[in-house]
Amino acid sequence: MQRIDELRNKDVLPGDELCVIEEFLPGYGTFEKEGVVRAAWAGKVQVDMVARTVSVLPIKGVPRLPERNSVIYGVVAVVKDEFAIIKILKDLRGVEYPSGFTGLLHISQASDRHVKDLYEVIRVGDIVKGKVLSDHPPYNLTLREPRLGVVLAFCGECGAILKKTGPDTVKCPKCGRIEKRKLSVDYGKVKGITT
Ligand SMILES: [Zn+2]
Repeated sequence: MQRIDELRNKDVLPGDELCVIEEFLPGYGTFEKEGVVRAAWAGKVQVDMVARTVSVLPIKGVPRLPERNSVIYGVVAVVKDEFAIIKILKDLRGVEYPSGFTGLLHISQASDRHVKDLYEVIRVGDIVKGKVLSDHPPYNLTLREPRLGVVLAFCGECGAILKKTGPDTVKCPKCGRIEKRKLSVDYGKVKGITT
C-alpha cells in the first residue's frame, strides 16, 4: 500500500517511470515500454484500484507534446558513434517546449547518403530541423529529407557561424575551417530558433 501512496497525486514529467505493468496497467496519459509504465505528459498521477490502472491527468496549460510527423527545431546536445541526443525546442506550428523534450537520432535516420560517422552529419551545438517519428518519449527523429538537417552550425575552432559552400559542406568565414554536415535546404535561412 505504501507504493500506492507514493504514486498517488505525484507530479510527474513526460517519460517519468511510474510503475511496472505487474503493479498497474497503463491508463490515460501513460504508455508502456518493456514492462515499465511511464508518463506521456506532465501532470498528476491517479491510481484506480478497481481497474488496477495508473493515469496521468495533465496540468492545466501544460505545453503540447511533439506529435508524430511534426517538424521540429532542436539543438544537438550529445553526439555518439551511432546516435545523437537532440533537445527539441519548438515545432513548425510555433509551439514552444520551454523545458525541452529529448529527441533521439539514430545514424540510420541521419541522411539519405551512406554515413560512416555521425560527426559528418551533426555536431554538438548545431541547430537542426528534424521530423518526429514516434508518439511518445523518447522521440525518435529523422533528418532524411532535403528540408531536414542542420539549419545553423558553428565553427568547431572559433565559434563563428559557418557558411554553406556545397551540398554537405560548410566553411568558416573567419578561420577558413571546412566541416561536413547533413544540411537542410533551409541552412542559414531560419531565424529566431536560439532565443
Ligand atoms: Zn572558425
